[in-house]
Amino acid sequence: MSFSQLGLCDPLLKSIKEKGYSSPSPIQQEAIPAILTGRDVLAAAQTGTGKTAGFALPVLQRLAAGPKTKANHVRALILTPTRELAAQVETNIREYKTHLRLKSAVVFGGVGINPQMKILRSGVDVLVATPGRLLDLYQQNAVKFEQLEILVLDEADRMLDMGFIHDIKRILKLLPAQRQSLLFSATFADNVMTLAESITRNPIKLAV
Ligand code: AMP
Repeated sequence: MSFSQLGLCDPLLKSIKEKGYSSPSPIQQEAIPAILTGRDVLAAAQTGTGKTAGFALPVLQRLAAGPKTKANHVRALILTPTRELAAQVETNIREYKTHLRLKSAVVFGGVGINPQMKILRSGVDVLVATPGRLLDLYQQNAVKFEQLEILVLDEADRMLDMGFIHDIKRILKLLPAQRQSLLFSATFADNVMTLAESITRNPIKLAV
């Protein structure tokens, strides 16, 4: 199995080659084609399995085909439980999108909000965020979701363990109902399944 067999475009295949990945991991083999169909996806994946590329590559490909992002708008939103994970996911995205004309950014709490407001002003194709800071930015009118096409919840189980359920529910109310939703989680405990049911519609379920 090769990355080109998964339906990825040349600019992404080029970045994958530059990263030195020779073949897709099991989660990537399942998630990439599933996400490219545009359907919602529910995936069980641990850290270290290559799950980030599993959602980031197809998300970038779908965005590359879409409209221009307007000022203060975002077209894909990736929520993570911690700053460290947010920063790491965005670093990966930055590398994967080298040969595409897409803009990414990361926002999290514990640092000044003004530089983040400034970055959002020109519009961001892919925003990686922790929930609390995203809500702060929304309240300041710095981020708008009318153009949102794709929502990703990364490490959903950890988000629930860390008490983010209320923030997540608040964010969900702000997003267009018509969107693609992807949920990645190490486990599918009852609370994760309940959340998944409220976020996804008829998802493709992947357990690798
Ligand atoms: P993740 O599970 O997303 O945190 O990824 C774990 C590590 O595997 C990261 O350092 C990735 O850069 C790397 N990685 C992801 N996909 C592949 C692949 N197909 N081949 C080799 N390394 C990969």
